[in-house]
Amino acid sequence: MTPCPAGTTLLLRGARVMLPGGDWDSPDIADIAVGGTTILAVGGPFIAPPQAEVMELRGHLIMPGFVNAHYHSHDVLAKGTLEEVPLETWRLFALPAQYPPRSIEEVRARTLLGALECARSGMTTVQDMLTLYPFDPAHLDTVISAYQQIGIRAVFALQYGDRKGLDTVPFWKDVFPHDQHHLLSSAAEPEKHFDLLSHFESGCLSAAARPRLHWALGPSAPERCTPELMGRTMDMARKWNIPVYSHIYESRGMALQARLGVPEHDGMLIKRLAAEGALGPHLNLAHSVWLAPEEIEILGETGTGTVLNPQGNLKMKCGIPPIRALQKAGVRIGLGCDNCSCSDAQNMFVAMKLFALLAAVSSKEQGPPQAAFALRAATESGAEGARLGHLIGKIAPGMAADLSVIDLADPSFVPLNSAARQLVHIEGGRAVKHVMVDGNFIIRDRKLTTMDEQAIYDEVDAIMPGFRRDFDAIRARVARWQPWLDEADRRINEAEVGIERRPGLAY
Ligand SMILES: [Zn+2]
Repeated sequence: MTPCPAGTTLLLRGARVMLPGGDWDSPDIADIAVGGTTILAVGGPFIAPPQAEVMELRGHLIMPGFVNAHYHSHDVLAKGTLEEVPLETWRLFALPAQYPPRSIEEVRARTLLGALECARSGMTTVQDMLTLYPFDPAHLDTVISAYQQIGIRAVFALQYGDRKGLDTVPFWKDVFPHDQHHLLSSAAEPEKHFDLLSHFESGCLSAAARPRLHWALGPSAPERCTPELMGRTMDMARKWNIPVYSHIYESRGMALQARLGVPEHDGMLIKRLAAEGALGPHLNLAHSVWLAPEEIEILGETGTGTVLNPQGNLKMKCGIPPIRALQKAGVRIGLGCDNCSCSDAQNMFVAMKLFALLAAVSSKEQGPPQAAFALRAATESGAEGARLGHLIGKIAPGMAADLSVIDLADPSFVPLNSAARQLVHIEGGRAVKHVMVDGNFIIRDRKLTTMDEQAIYDEVDAIMPGFRRDFDAIRARVARWQPWLDEADRRINEAEVGIERRPGLAY
């Protein structure tokens, strides 16, 4: 027995622990000494200091908390509203520019509900790339306060762009009647009389640090941002040493837009970003489904990261990212659960399982073991993408105590043949028992500790009649647009983009 380090306030005793470099099939039993917000020591067995809380965790597994590396809290209330739908059509159902301005109450309720779902499924960090349109500073304050109150770690970015959505989707301008054009929007629309980036820099980046809150920048997608805006973004990211999150090549339509929009870069957005000096470890490119082989190589060479979101990519008919090619090129891969209206579940177990299964069909040859890779993508790689690799994503002394405790007395883990494979291929979130962020159990015995969980549901109930009214109006409008959407979709599918990411289409 070894004494605990001085300053230990909590001793987690007797669990199997997923340690960096350890055996993730059969993780060793280890004690974890936590002092305040930080892991002080891992190993033991430790002698409990008299003043420390001791939690007996025999029969449990402690893993690093998940990092949901791509998520948008703006459409949490639209979960479960849609069946499969092409991405270009989905934008018109789900994205903020389609909606009338929202109330403070709705912004708060949806932020808390989304964070609660994330925490209950073992996430300790969420990267929220939030569109607030039209921008209202009170909404931004509300979101930040909600994250602070519920206690999850947030890597927060506002989503922005300075090109109109209509100009970034192939054929919309041609097929829709002119009098409908002003209604067609995308993930971010230009703010007319407001410099969002300057506001974000002075109000957020320059403000005093707050616990569990980290900033990031969210240029919506290269085609929705001029080179000038991308340049400002990257200058700001380097100045403040913060990560940048953007979307790239989610759908065939986005690949086609690149072919049409940047002929000077051979129709390749990665070449455009390279020419603008935007590539590098700061940058995380969500989706990366329709990357060309040449572009994958450039990402690997420049250390640029990706965040894959398999749930939404499948439901929005986008396809399968070139997972094995990305792995071969050494590209950083994080995992995300994206919008609630397309991915539905904020559940990293689902994302990891789909990742591992899609990896299996993204190359003919048998690949490397994917379960442990999926776990690292969902923890360590997401942390590195957020430029927080020194703080979260691993269980080691000096790291923040961001942990998930899995109850192994569950059919998912009996018998325990491989903790890694059973977490990825069997567990769905049921066995997540405690979740700790910065040394504080925000979920204990599957219950939220920082707030009254029922009060969050009540807040959501109170605002749902208004949300449903607006959603129904949007559904009716999209139904009227359907013939034009179908025509644009047909043309997108018939155009040549040089690669294919939907193998099912061969049948
Ligand atoms: Zn997204």
